Amino acid sequence: MEIQMKCHKCGSQNLKRYAFVCEEGTSTEKINATVKPSWNTKPFGTFGKQKVSGTRTVMTALAKRCSAPTDPSGGVFLLATVPALLIGLYLGIKIGVFVNMFWVGFLVFAFSVGGVVFACHQLWLRYLGGVVLVNNYQKELREWQHSWLCMQCGAATIVRPSNRDA
Ligand SMILES: [Zn+2]
Repeated sequence: MEIQMKCHKCGSQNLKRYAFVCEEGTSTEKINATVKPSWNTKPFGTFGKQKVSGTRTVMTALAKRCSAPTDPSGGVFLLATVPALLIGLYLGIKIGVFVNMFWVGFLVFAFSVGGVVFACHQLWLRYLGGVVLVNNYQKELREWQHSWLCMQCGAATIVRPSNRDA
């Protein structure tokens, strides 16, 4: 089955899928460095020197434009994590010290963090318009998956999938 793709603006057939444009314009660089932390008072000692390695993602402007929409839940989870950690830490230490068992404290900590984050997410979904945002996001994601970029004029063409395979 071959569909003839055409730009809705200029009619060019030179189209690229958004996902592909994004992938093409995104590169990951490996970074390796040796850093001396400020607390290292012996400049010639090997102790205290840290090897830092990581990756850096570089995106072209076009890749940024064509990148997938971000899940709004991510921000909520991130925001909820701070109070969740505080509550979890408080409860974990209180209860852990009370029963004098480390693992009980740890379990309480883990469960309360998970519980608070879950509760915040539910609260956000139900009362703070989260459902609408999530639905919008899913719609945008579906559109993004079917978006094609014209290499000729830069216009986006969204190919609506037929109801059967939607
Ligand atoms: Zn075009």
